[in-house]
Amino acid sequence: MKHAIHATHEVICELKGIQKSFDRETGHALRVLEDINLDIRANEVVCLIGPSGCGKSTILRIFAGLIKPTKGKTFYHGEKMEGLNPGVAIVFQNFALYPWMTVEANVKTVLQAQGLDDETIKAKAHRAIRLVGLEGFEEAYPRELSGGMKQRVGMARALSVDPEILFMDEPFSHVDALTAEGLRAEILDIWDDAERNPSSILMVSHDIKEVAYMADRIVVLSANPGRVRTIVENPLPRPRDMRSPEFLRLVD
Ligand code: ADP
Ligand code: MG
Repeated sequence: MKHAIHATHEVICELKGIQKSFDRETGHALRVLEDINLDIRANEVVCLIGPSGCGKSTILRIFAGLIKPTKGKTFYHGEKMEGLNPGVAIVFQNFALYPWMTVEANVKTVLQAQGLDDETIKAKAHRAIRLVGLEGFEEAYPRELSGGMKQRVGMARALSVDPEILFMDEPFSHVDALTAEGLRAEILDIWDDAERNPSSILMVSHDIKEVAYMADRIVVLSANPGRVRTIVENPLPRPRDMRSPEFLRLVD
């Protein structure tokens, strides 16, 4: 079991004094984030919650090194980060699968980008496919799969590289509610295995129940520009039951 005692756990990634503006055609820039200070520590699940457009996805992309902040610094294990964050793999809201590729080929894309040999790629892909219960669907195409199955492919692809931190950007918003419930529990099971990665999860959501179920720490953002309004430690012990009275009391 992974324990997230936030104060005592090693910092993996950190944002310090992050500001982000996007240039607009009108000439003046749109200030999206202001003074974001945030860390992700070993063995924890952090959830970002806040209104639509407050900059949740932008924070995730800055943490991942996909975009550069306008001001501020990003650290990975204490080192200032320049390019992509080497410890991160991402599960996207819209699955982001290649429709012309099979399940197996989709899972292999991130491994191939790491320049591994074919044997290793095959072994790691198969392991990830098993981990998310997609055995038997290796040769299927995305169009033949339900939303939940497509997101299993997205999860397998991300997990295939053994990321130290798994990023998930509203991963279940295009998955039906019952399937989403199962997938959340499965991803926590995978995370909770102390022997393996991901050590930590950063998940974006706008669903308070999902966040209360998943998170050790909940980062609540406000909008225009996006700021950290408050960070809350989840008082509910794991494992959590979304139908228990304690749970329902917390989210109501
Ligand atoms: P959230 O994920 O919280 O809904 P985002 O991080 O996607 O919010 O976006 C925050 C704000 O930044 C929005 O107003 C969005 O329109 C704007 N934005 C995001 N990406 C870009 C971009 N590449 N260019 C211009 N504006 C952007
Ligand atoms: Mg978003």
